[in-house]
Amino acid sequence: MGKKFYITTPIYYVNARPHIGHAYTTIVCDTIARRQRMLGADTFFLTGTDEHGQKIERAAQEAGKTPQQYADQISGEFRKLWQRMGISNDDFIRTTEDRHKKRTQELFRRIRDNGYIYKGKYTGQYCVSDELYVDGAKPGDPCPLCGRPTETVEEENYFFKLSAFQDKLLELYANPDFVRPETRRNEVISFVRSGLRDLSISRSTFSWGIPVPDDPKHVIYVWLDALANYITAIGYGSTHGGAQAAFQKYWPADVHMIGKEIVRFHCVYWPAFLLAAGLPLPKAIVAHGWLLFEENKMSKSRGNIVRADTIIDVLGNDALRYFLLREVVFGQDGSFSFDALVQRYNADLANGLGNLASRTLTMIGRYFQGEIPAVLPSANTSDNAIAEAAQKTISEFNALFDQFQFSRALEVAWGLVGLVDKYIVENEPWSLGEKQDPASRGRLGTVLHTSAEALRIVTALAHPVMPESTAKIWAQLGLGDIRKLDLSALQWAQLPAGTRLGKIEPVFPRADKSTVERMQKMEEQGRAPVVTPPSETPAAAQPVPSPAPKAPASVSDGKITIDDFAKIELRVGQVKAAEKVKGADKLLRLEVDIGTETRQLVAGIAEAYAPETLIGRKVVIVANLMPRKLRGLESNGMIVAASLEGGKPVLAGFLEDVPVGARLK
Ligand SMILES: [Zn+2]
Repeated sequence: MGKKFYITTPIYYVNARPHIGHAYTTIVCDTIARRQRMLGADTFFLTGTDEHGQKIERAAQEAGKTPQQYADQISGEFRKLWQRMGISNDDFIRTTEDRHKKRTQELFRRIRDNGYIYKGKYTGQYCVSDELYVDGAKPGDPCPLCGRPTETVEEENYFFKLSAFQDKLLELYANPDFVRPETRRNEVISFVRSGLRDLSISRSTFSWGIPVPDDPKHVIYVWLDALANYITAIGYGSTHGGAQAAFQKYWPADVHMIGKEIVRFHCVYWPAFLLAAGLPLPKAIVAHGWLLFEENKMSKSRGNIVRADTIIDVLGNDALRYFLLREVVFGQDGSFSFDALVQRYNADLANGLGNLASRTLTMIGRYFQGEIPAVLPSANTSDNAIAEAAQKTISEFNALFDQFQFSRALEVAWGLVGLVDKYIVENEPWSLGEKQDPASRGRLGTVLHTSAEALRIVTALAHPVMPESTAKIWAQLGLGDIRKLDLSALQWAQLPAGTRLGKIEPVFPRADKSTVERMQKMEEQGRAPVVTPPSETPAAAQPVPSPAPKAPASVSDGKITIDDFAKIELRVGQVKAAEKVKGADKLLRLEVDIGTETRQLVAGIAEAYAPETLIGRKVVIVANLMPRKLRGLESNGMIVAASLEGGKPVLAGFLEDVPVGARLK
């Protein structure tokens, strides 16, 4: 074929242990990589860990470890999980590896030699949590990404002439495939249009990083360091011939898969760095949404995050992979819950594909001694309808998959499963099997062959998504090793009559109520100490926990830590109903939609607001307040208002439109 395909996950920051959000990004890339291999592309799939920066230095200190020990431990957990999940990455890069450090210095040198780096003085605000310079902010201003207070830094730094690339970047975004989806592309365009300032790309106030070449008092800005992994891993900057050849072959990347919270770094800084170095640009940067947790709501304060291990232990890798790709509309935020997982598993896998496989193969075993029967030429429209539907499924599935519409693609494939189920019911092979006349035998063979052929096609299409179970079904069909299949040649009528089936075993045993309970229990028992609060956990690279000080020194002056603040769940709510509470002049009973549910609240704002003026208004709600009773009515949460001395309360609100349910932090 000669075609190459290079795909990357973000490298995961080692400030948090791997959770299902990281697993999601990695599974998506793994699925794409597997499919490309099946299509014959020379595929390189890269993942890894991002291990430098002040945040890691501080977190290690608090854990009583050296930064390297700390990074080794967490990076090891990532590698272990990917192995367990059967992730097919071709390399795993760590930014603390020598190869990465040397080659990143080489990149720095090249950008400097090209005249895009100068030394200057930086005074300004910095968010340690996001490792982000916040231009134009004043001391005390919050970080625009995470809302935490920024720190004032004043130091002599190296600067990157980002401002020189504004026009070139805007030209790049004119290509609609460069940044996807469209919403992210628009976000990036408006950010760049608003003007780019030069970017500080070194730090001298801490040392956990890659030294700037020829000036080791400085370390390279952690984002330049991290982004460089996409080229250092495949050999950029190496003097070794093999590595150079790999770089020539695989760069530029075909897809950088990222979470939506790191769009700016990937779509603005990274292309600018590459342009400055005179290197080709990636073909596509694709941002997915976040995975949210239903459980979140119930036990946010416990900081629980679903670990991939729990699901794998109980339902297996493929169940998790299928669920995430089918349930989450790619690019948007998706919601995870054990209930939804089990429901989807039973409906689509146990009762869907699994049932189709077992009934078809069992009947071939019973009526044809385990040999795929021949299909007779027939004018039967129901056979032809299945053949046509299958051909259409193949082309639609492929087109949707190429557009990253995994959920739709799987929906289309499972549409075929549904059609074949109906076809089997209508043709009643079990009745045909009771008869011995040649016409009935011939018809029976055709029906079972047609069903098996459709099963083969769905199995082939689903293989990149569910590698383990589809390999089993493939072997049960008697077709050998599914990894040898050339997906680009897949079409109807390729199943040879006379193929001997393998041993037939159920692939997706049904799950029941106890399955959910088991997973919930495992989560509670295995809750890890080093986790981030779920609401703040982007699915991908850079979750934003603060390195929580164990014993804050400033506790005595009445200040609280960010973690204390994080315990308060503030959300945007919308008033759906409002009425006066009988016998209470000051109280209103409100029904407020907070995105996941509608809550009843009782608020002391009746003197300031007429009930009808509040309908539709967006308000700020303390969502995790213990319920309490006021005048016999349960108030489930609190509405936030400015309390004025001697005056009426004034509701907090927003100048811009905000979605219902959004969290304030
Ligand atoms: Zn921040």
